[in-house]
Amino acid sequence: LFGNEEHKIVMVGLDNAGKTTILYQFLMNEVVHTSPTIGSNVEEVVWKNIHFIMWDLGGQQSLRAAWSTYYTNTEFIIVVIDSMDRERLGVIREELYSMLERDELSKASVLVYANKQDLKGSMSATEISRQLDLTSIKKHPWHIQSCCALTGEGLYQGLEWIVGRLK
Ligand code: GDP
Repeated sequence: LFGNEEHKIVMVGLDNAGKTTILYQFLMNEVVHTSPTIGSNVEEVVWKNIHFIMWDLGGQQSLRAAWSTYYTNTEFIIVVIDSMDRERLGVIREELYSMLERDELSKASVLVYANKQDLKGSMSATEISRQLDLTSIKKHPWHIQSCCALTGEGLYQGLEWIVGRLK
């Protein structure tokens, strides 16, 4: 899927957004290597030639600077949104825009997963896109994809967008 080159994908979102569930859907039953925790809430999973760096946003501001070393050469940022969590969408917005200002992430493309679409009352991708003001992002290619990590619905379409950007 990703060819032979190494790729780095940073996956972020608030706690409970569905990051772990998504990662396991991607990896299916593959054996994965999880490196010792870089800092609390940060995890690196290596699968074939893909490095996934995963962390929970919205906490531990003091550690954030230290994590930036792990941003280097990041090609993709996957932002996982809990589409039921209206209250904390503003937190994500702040974090996303501060990430996009970093030099290490200047070449990164952004995939937003509007997760938990199976839940009644969840925000649509259009609503999330508007709340996050995604159209204001001009320097980074971005894409939003509705999904349900529990069933895997929509996850592959998101990955296809990523793979398409590699060419
Ligand atoms: P993380 O903290 O971002 O890694 O989130 P997890 O992957 O641990 O998921 C948090 C909770 O949300 C778990 O109970 C998951 O089963 C649940 N969850 C994840 N994705 C979905 C989804 O698409 N729909 C529903 N209904 N629940 C989900």
